[in-house]
Formats: sequence, structure tokens, C-alpha cells
Amino acid sequence: MSDAFDIVIVGGGPGGYPAAIRAAQLGMRVACIERGERLGGTCLNVGCIPSKALLDATETYSLIRHGASGFGIRVPEVEFDLAGIMAHKERVVGGLAQGIDFLFRKHRITRVRGTGRIEAPDRVVVTPTEGGAPRTLTATRGVVIATGSDATPLPGIEVDEKRIVSSTGALSLPEVPRRLAIIGAGYIGLELGSVWRRLGAEVTVLEYLDRITPGLDAEIAEALQRVLEEQGFRFRLGTRVLGARRAGDDVRITVQPAQGDGAGAPEELAADVLLVAVGRRAFAEGLGLEALGVALDERRRVKVDARFQTSVPGVYAIGDVIAGPMLAHKAEEEGIALAEILAGQAGHVDYGTIPAVVYTWPEVASVGRTEEELKKDDVAYRVGRFPFSANARARSRRATDGMVKVLADAATDRVLGVHIIGPDAGTLIHEAVLAMTFGASAEDIGRTTHAHPTLPEALREAALAVDGRPMHL
Ligand code: NAD
Repeated sequence: MSDAFDIVIVGGGPGGYPAAIRAAQLGMRVACIERGERLGGTCLNVGCIPSKALLDATETYSLIRHGASGFGIRVPEVEFDLAGIMAHKERVVGGLAQGIDFLFRKHRITRVRGTGRIEAPDRVVVTPTEGGAPRTLTATRGVVIATGSDATPLPGIEVDEKRIVSSTGALSLPEVPRRLAIIGAGYIGLELGSVWRRLGAEVTVLEYLDRITPGLDAEIAEALQRVLEEQGFRFRLGTRVLGARRAGDDVRITVQPAQGDGAGAPEELAADVLLVAVGRRAFAEGLGLEALGVALDERRRVKVDARFQTSVPGVYAIGDVIAGPMLAHKAEEEGIALAEILAGQAGHVDYGTIPAVVYTWPEVASVGRTEEELKKDDVAYRVGRFPFSANARARSRRATDGMVKVLADAATDRVLGVHIIGPDAGTLIHEAVLAMTFGASAEDIGRTTHAHPTLPEALREAALAVDGRPMHL
């Protein structure tokens, strides 16, 4: 087998594998190095996909258990089988991993199992995961770093993935913990907290800030906190975690009020399992970047220019390892754009329209600017809101919690941001993403025909509300 390629990609996650596919579509010879057994990276193996499999399973259970009677459906007894839920998760992940293998074969992409080290801008040495002699791959057009991120550790807390877990351990707990404590009210904390809460765990979220999901529009974040509290989540905001340790069957967590002079007395909490979900950090260890002279920023992310080139010509980087939101679809867009750039095309990512979704129930989805950002930047804007309680379809689905919020430029009416909390928010947001991608005004959305009765009518109504003329409010 020849070891000469046009592009050599290090990392087979949601940044690396789409870059490989797009480059192959464009006629390039591509190698993708992945040390893991399966392609798909964190997202497919221990992130987005297994968490969604667990969220969908537990949401179904919860709907039957708590929601069926409201529809006039009697379910005398309902119980779950944790092993069965985990088997569902494994099937979903395994099937999708095979799917990527199939796509690699279809596009004649060479997959190399091992750990890559970039020896020169056109050369990567791979140490095979299963032993054997290192292999050197050469690249005529570029070497791509797509090595992603790993969980940020908290000083004073040692993750054992049994009782003190990262998201990886929290996706595979062997039994439902009676008391689950979570550090961090971000995406991971709330999604995995939802999974175990629905199965009966008492969930307490410890968050340093005085709000949940920093970065989300504050009004939407408050609404999310309220619904999660109704579901039984306990939030301790403004809480600093000083440390945690195993003590017999307990995990003891030391916390302290974060605000003020920090003089609040430390307090000890007990839990059966502690999930540490305080963010992720770029992962670029072992690639030989220092020797190569690839510049990193202050957060140890790989610095790139507008064409994803690092400080070393011929070496590129995409995804979680560079700046920007750590989202699979952002990495994918960057991978596709980079492949097109390397093929001489005008690849491009529209960073202003990358949606973000929290897959709780109800879901939260957003795109564009938040109200707080607009205020900070002194942008004059108008707001339109529409509650799902006034949407016919949401009522028939008994899913009336939440609202759609549209932010539009006061002078031009151009949509600047859309924030949704409610049923299927993660699906509904894409109409807003498309509208913003095409530079739509709120009036454009308001004048677009929406089928009745559907949930997207709530977006249309919120867009009309920007001009003070919703139809059903
Ligand atoms: P996050 O950045 O979303 O949230 C981390 C939270 O932890 C923040 O609220 C932060 O204030 C808090 N925190 C940080 N240090 C703390 C401390 N010492 N004590 C208490 N609280 C502390 O991070 P995450 O939830 O770990 O997720 C990691 C990454 O994975 C994120 O970038 C996220 O975008 C991505 N992710 C996305 C999805 C999705 O798109 N649905 C799902 C899961 C993860």
C-alpha cells in the first residue's frame, strides 16, 4: 500500500472524517489516522450520539410514565431495564460507526489505526495502536490536525470513571445512582443530569456562576432552569467546588459560596456519583507541535488563519482543537471548508449562523446573537416573543412549556438571533438558521406560509411579534 497522499488527517472525529470524505469527493488521495477502534471521535463514541440515545430512551420512558394519562392513555405499570437502554445506546453507536467505515470504503479513504506525530509539514509518523513498526505517511497538499478536545479536569478531584465520572463514565453507569451530584450547569451537566433524573436519581447541580448555561440568552436560560426544577433538578448556583473524594460508598464534595469574599463556610455534600462537567479543552498532545513550531493561543488551542492554516505552512487545523464553539457541526463545517480550500475552491464557514442545541426536555436551541450580546455591543434591536402555550400543535401534544424569541435589527429588521425553548426546539431552529444564512428580515419569516397546525408556526408568530402583530396573542 502506498503511503503517499494528497492530504493526511490526524483524527477521525466529526472534524476529521467529513474533511476526509469531502477531500475524496474532490478527487484527492486521503489518509485519516485514528487511534481509537472506531471512527467518529468523541461525538459518536462517548458524546453526542450515546447521550442522545440515552436521552431519547429515557424521554420515551418519562413520557409513558408521566405523560400518557394526559392523553387518555392508561398504562398501569411501566418499568425500565437499564441494561436494555444501554444495549440500545450500543446499537446506535455501533451502527453509525459501521456507517462511517462504509463511507471510507466508498470514497477509497485510507484509514490508519494509530497515533500520529507530525514530523514535518508534509510527513506524519504513525505508531500503530496494536503495536508493530511505525509508518510514515506523506502529504503533498496538507496535514490536518483534527484531534479534538478532552474533558477539563478540576484540581483536587480525581476522576475514576466509577464514582467520580466525566461524561464518558456518566454514559455507562451500571445502576441508577440514588444521589447524583454534577459540577457544571452546562450542556453535559444538564443533558446527562436529565437522563439519570428521569430514571429516578436525585440530581443536584453545582454551578460556579449565578446562572445556568452561560452563553445562552439569559431569559431562555432562566426558563430552562425553571422547567428543570419542576422536573426535580436542584441547582446550587454561585457555588465553588473545593474538592471531592471517595469515602466508602459515598463521594464527599466540599463546596463554598462563590460570591463575595469567599468567606462563606465550606460545607460537605454527599453523593453516590459525582459527574464533573466543567467544560472541555483543546487536545493536541503528542503531535510534536512544539518541535514543529506550530503556535498555540493562551488556552493551548492551535492558532489558525482564515484558511485554517497554522503558523506552519502546510499544516492545518479544524474543530475543537482551534478556537470557537466546541460543537460537532462546527467541526464538520470546518472540515468541509478546508477540503474545498485545499482543492482550490472557496470553502467557507458562516460562524454567525452556527446553531447550538441543548437536548433536555424541553429542548433549547439558539442561533445568532443573544439579547445580552446586543446590549453589550449597543445594537438597537426589537424583540418578538411567542409562547408555545398559544400554539395549537403544542397544545395537542401537551408540550406547552417554552417560547420562541426573535431578535431583529431595529433599523433594518434583519434577524440577529433566534432563541427557542420548547418541544423540538433543536429541529425548529433550522428554519431560523436558513433564514439568517440568507440574511432574512423578521418580516420575511412572518410572511412565509407555515402549515397549520405545526410547531414552526410559533417561529412565524414570534417574527410577527417583532412588529407587534402576532396573530394568536
Ligand atoms: P460547558 O462549557 O457547556 O459548561 C460548563 C459549566 O461548568 C459552566 O456553566 C461553567 O460555569 C461551570 N463551571 C466551570 N468550572 C466550574 C467549577 N469549578 N465549579 C462549578 N462550576 C464550574 O461545558 P460542558 O457541559 O462540560 O460541555 C463541554 C463542551 O461540550 C461544551 O463546549 C459543549 O459545547 C459541548 N457539548 C455540546 C453539547 C450539545 O451541543 N448538545 C452537548 C454536550 C457537550
